[in-house]
Amino acid sequence: LYDIVDGIGRTVEGATQTVTGTFEPTIRLGVTGLSRAGKTVFITSLVANLMDRARMGQLQAAATGSIQMAYLQPQPDDTIPRFDFETHLAAMTGPSPTWPNSTRTISELRLSLRVQPTGLLGAFSGPRTVHLDIIDYPGEWLLDLGLMDKSFAEWSKESLTRAEARAPATDYLALLSQTDPAAALDEPCAQRLAAAYTTYLRQSREAGLSDCTPGRFLLPGDLDGSPVLTFAPLPAPDTSTRKSLYREFDRRYEAYKSRIVKPFFRDHFARLDRQIVLIDALGAIHAGPQAVEDMRGAMASILAAFRPGQNSWLSKLLFGKRVEKILFAATKADHLHHSQHPRLTAVMEALLREAKDRADFAGAKTHAMSLAALRATVEDRMDHEGTPLDVVRGRLLDTGKQAAFYPGELPADPSHLLTPARDGQTAWLDGDYAIMRFAPAAIELKPGEGPPHIRLDKAAEFLIGDRLR
Ligand code: GDP
Repeated sequence: LYDIVDGIGRTVEGATQTVTGTFEPTIRLGVTGLSRAGKTVFITSLVANLMDRARMGQLQAAATGSIQMAYLQPQPDDTIPRFDFETHLAAMTGPSPTWPNSTRTISELRLSLRVQPTGLLGAFSGPRTVHLDIIDYPGEWLLDLGLMDKSFAEWSKESLTRAEARAPATDYLALLSQTDPAAALDEPCAQRLAAAYTTYLRQSREAGLSDCTPGRFLLPGDLDGSPVLTFAPLPAPDTSTRKSLYREFDRRYEAYKSRIVKPFFRDHFARLDRQIVLIDALGAIHAGPQAVEDMRGAMASILAAFRPGQNSWLSKLLFGKRVEKILFAATKADHLHHSQHPRLTAVMEALLREAKDRADFAGAKTHAMSLAALRATVEDRMDHEGTPLDVVRGRLLDTGKQAAFYPGELPADPSHLLTPARDGQTAWLDGDYAIMRFAPAAIELKPGEGPPHIRLDKAAEFLIGDRLR
């Protein structure tokens, strides 16, 4: 009942917003992806390029001059941290450019666009203002949705089975083997278990794995050290008392769901109109088959969040409201020569097709592509033992030196990546990819080499273009 009442409350609130802002429509754009996927760089570059517009030819409203002005304004939500656009932009474009600090929590930024409508409507109306509210939030939080309909016993069983197949879990499993879940709760022991489990999740992420719940264990923010983050999966004992470790972890797990996961979906997720999901597909492909497998599962879980089943608490919460468009984008495409971009896009399309099948997804308009929010490389062709090799050249982050690299190859047919055992090849991008750590240098582009991003304008056209005409 609470969900429904709350849903009504928000619908009224949304309607009021539309009524008061009849002439000022708002688009709430969610930007998500697992940590290091490229959210901060994407938002900073998107906003900077929308404010400048000189290099956004594929965004129709920019190309035709319909967007007359774009400027930052105070955001509508007073309790969400503001996305630190100015600091991030200064880092990326300063005299010695560096990458900005990554997303750690939710943040928001309002960019207002003054748009002159085109066509028949434009002939009769003057310019109007469209607010673009960008909501940046960790993809790890989305994956927590999967916990909502699992009990502690079910989640523990699944997590422990998964951990047994993953190398970084060794220490946690060893600690668990010395722990009696039916014994009375001992707080230092609880903390050791939670710390060991968090280390395992972190190492799994570093190894390129995607499915690492609970998501707040990796990005705790100001909840670090609180009881709601001090639990871990346990094997179910035959019997347990109320004061046992097992029962207390069960209670904390339920508190995590109701006090952290649920409010996020209710207060933030449920209000989005459009969504971009950024994926470091190249990183996962380079990390190997297990990481690719994990990425596939994560994509299906993310997509499932956008189409909750009829009876789930989330569908009640959404109250019929739906995200209209979802874009899945592989980031950092500037690591590849453009001759390989169609292959990366094909991988994303195959992953999306599969995720849609797995999640039985219909509804929002979806699209897959590859992009680079900030191009750190230029392209070149080199001679390698008599054969021409398409390489990318950029300034290295640690030495500052210019260098050219060949990252290795992506499969021509994405199904080879998705079913690696089929032709025996399991390693892709096994060239220089591992050492390609470029700085966000202000690159010198010659005429015809395009803008300092790759397809950022196309992404913007898909996400918001229709609302700017
Ligand atoms: P977040 O955790 O999702 O906010 O990720 P960030 O936006 O901080 O990006 C993580 C890292 O990925 C950055 O520090 C860069 O090293 C790299 N990166 C992100 N976007 C690009 C891009 O467009 N090109 C290149 N070459 N690297 C990128």
